[in-house]
Amino acid sequence: MNLHEYQGKEILSRFGVKTQRGIVAETPDAAVEAAKKLAEETGTGWFVVKAQVHAGGRGKGGGVKLAKNLEEVKALSSDIIGMQLITPQTSAEGKKVSMVLIAEDVYSPGPSKIEEFYISVLLDRQKGQNTIVYSTEGGMDIEEVAEHTPHLIHNELIDPATGLLPFQARKIAFALGLEGTAFKEMVSFIQNLYTAYTSIDASLFEINPVLKTSDDKIIAVDAKVALDDNGLFRQPELAALRDLREEDPTEVEAGEAGLNFVKLDGNVGCMVNGAGLAMATMDIIKMAGSSPANFLDVGGTADAARVEKAFRIILRDSHVKAILVNIFGGIVRCDRVAQGIVDAYRSIGEINVPIIIRLQGTNAVEAKQLIDESGLKVYSAIQLKEAADLVQALVK
Ligand code: GDP
Ligand code: MN
Repeated sequence: MNLHEYQGKEILSRFGVKTQRGIVAETPDAAVEAAKKLAEETGTGWFVVKAQVHAGGRGKGGGVKLAKNLEEVKALSSDIIGMQLITPQTSAEGKKVSMVLIAEDVYSPGPSKIEEFYISVLLDRQKGQNTIVYSTEGGMDIEEVAEHTPHLIHNELIDPATGLLPFQARKIAFALGLEGTAFKEMVSFIQNLYTAYTSIDASLFEINPVLKTSDDKIIAVDAKVALDDNGLFRQPELAALRDLREEDPTEVEAGEAGLNFVKLDGNVGCMVNGAGLAMATMDIIKMAGSSPANFLDVGGTADAARVEKAFRIILRDSHVKAILVNIFGGIVRCDRVAQGIVDAYRSIGEINVPIIIRLQGTNAVEAKQLIDESGLKVYSAIQLKEAADLVQALVK
């Protein structure tokens, strides 16, 4: 589950990390009120209007704009709220913006040089450890830095037995070229960020840019947070931060039905049980020359009703030109899956795409009989490769 920037910043503040202050607004009028309040609290006269969507690169897509007075706050908020924001991290259609964060401008010049750093904490799955990734080259072009000058991006692995050690935080602050007040501020910034990351069961907490202000404060200007869904059961107040507007409606519906569904952009609908088998099925579809329209794991305990739901969800995607059902009957019985398909077929009526079925394992014979007797027109296959080749031939 992903969080919005403003939610990430609230969490950071709770853990003692300094952040750029801001107030969210869903209308231009509320944005002006937010700016007035912010001006009272912080003394700022300039504001940044920031689109709140679950995607990075907003600055590049025109979703982050500087406003030098209240009129500009109003005008920029009117432009941004409701816009379809396209960034390097969104699809081609972009994401609809339903709110903005009105934030204080923190880039005002002063006695010392302003600097932008990159710092993130994430799980390194290969090492099985959390790691802090950092760079002096923070700001909007971090992707280019990673691509062209990867030696400027560093890693500090954290031993799970000890947690982040003070010397590691100092090592990072030193490597970022800081001294004096800014150095001390950075050390506690890193320690508090790491505590926030572990306390909320995050899998990513990315701050880009981390700003050294002109008066040597270290503050988070942005916050990108991904929570580990498997930890959400013990984080009820974080689970409540979920914004369904940011998620694909079909995926939300599938999740409610207990289906593990991810929409993709190919044309072969897949219905599979087990995540590993689903991956293998998608791979073999690709290898045979087609491409999957979705990832769908109906789970180990799928009953006919759930299978019917899955079938309907797949069919809703107009790009789907064929459906491959690949079920291994271990815990789930093949005849239940077959019953679900037959039920779906009957209640939906005409299905205009070919269905290729591969059912193996428990009650596979009964399943085949059920399908044969239903009058449902399907192609059956025994080998997975055979099924994938058939799909490719039918899609063509
Ligand atoms: P992102 O593009 O989605 O990563 O959004 P960010 O929150 O990182 O904002 C994008 C860029 O806007 C930052 O890299 C900054 O350069 C700029 N920005 C953010 N806050 C301020 C601010 O207070 N003042 C000014 N002048 N620029 C800001
Ligand atoms: Mn950013």
